[in-house]
Amino acid sequence: MQISVVIPLFNEAESLPELVSWIDIVMKRNQFTYEMVLVDDGSTDDSWQVIRQLRQSYISIKAIRFKRNYGKSAALNEGFIAASGDVVITMDADLQDSPDEIPELYRMIVEDKYDLVSGWKKKRYDPISKTIPTKLYNAVTRRISGIKLHDFNCGLKAYDRKVVKSIEVIGEMHRYIPVMAKWAGFRRIGEKVVQHRERKYGVTKFGLGRFINGPLDLLSIIFVSRFSKKPMHFFGLFGSLFIFLGFVILFILSFQKLFFDVSGIASRPLFYFGILTFIVGTQFFTTGFLAEMALRQAPTRNQYLVDEKIGLDANMID
Ligand code: UDP
Ligand code: MG
Repeated sequence: MQISVVIPLFNEAESLPELVSWIDIVMKRNQFTYEMVLVDDGSTDDSWQVIRQLRQSYISIKAIRFKRNYGKSAALNEGFIAASGDVVITMDADLQDSPDEIPELYRMIVEDKYDLVSGWKKKRYDPISKTIPTKLYNAVTRRISGIKLHDFNCGLKAYDRKVVKSIEVIGEMHRYIPVMAKWAGFRRIGEKVVQHRERKYGVTKFGLGRFINGPLDLLSIIFVSRFSKKPMHFFGLFGSLFIFLGFVILFILSFQKLFFDVSGIASRPLFYFGILTFIVGTQFFTTGFLAEMALRQAPTRNQYLVDEKIGLDANMID
């Protein structure tokens, strides 16, 4: 099968019929073999009934329904597990992304050999309260990750199947799939300007929370990708610096007290600062040791992504 279209959806009953028939038209016109993987993220409207109905006319539909709402990341992750196409395309269900982009995205993966192509909603049809913070968020993510994308969180993306089969989308990390892909070793990350349309039915499912949680997730992802297999390199560094600083301060103060009989040491701010840094330093170290011990128990402690092997049993990722 050439293409899997993975669509996470939460209360999108009105959009679904139009979306499904549009995708089907595009696929047939281009003679693609394909499937649509609809992941109903615990909708409380008629989405699931609509999907059941649509399935009668479109056998390319495969669908999963969550018992409750787990979030877009969870829905994408399940979709990725279920997908069996060579190229996996993700798309929002609200008709803001256009299925007409599919053929070119497919071509970029197959012919231009991109691992991942992200849509770029150059001209957006969203309220200004969303577009401005989004610009900032993209600039920060670009700086930190070193990936030259304008629109990290675009729902419309295309992947070589190897990418989706080797990364796991947890928490709300769907915003950072390109970052995870890069850190997993998939370096060919491209971008395509895509059409964006106004939401026709229903309402947005994400509020202002995204601008607080997004940056926190970025911090976690950087920390985890750099240090999860060597936590002591992080905690030990800060631990040493703090302990050293605290030690020097307390040593000098003790020296003054003992040999020069300086009085009032304990009422000087430096005294408290010395104690504080010393204690904080030991805490960093303790955390580092605990993290190292946790790592030894982690099933993923020696899990690496193998690209190719020679002269060994090939157990490649696809
Ligand atoms: N979505 C989902 N689970 C959720 C929230 C959203 O599957 O908990 C889906 C939603 O149905 C849509 C896509 O994720 O297909 C993007 O959501 P939305 O359009 O609300 O986000 P926005 O376009 O405002 O960023
Ligand atoms: Mg939307």
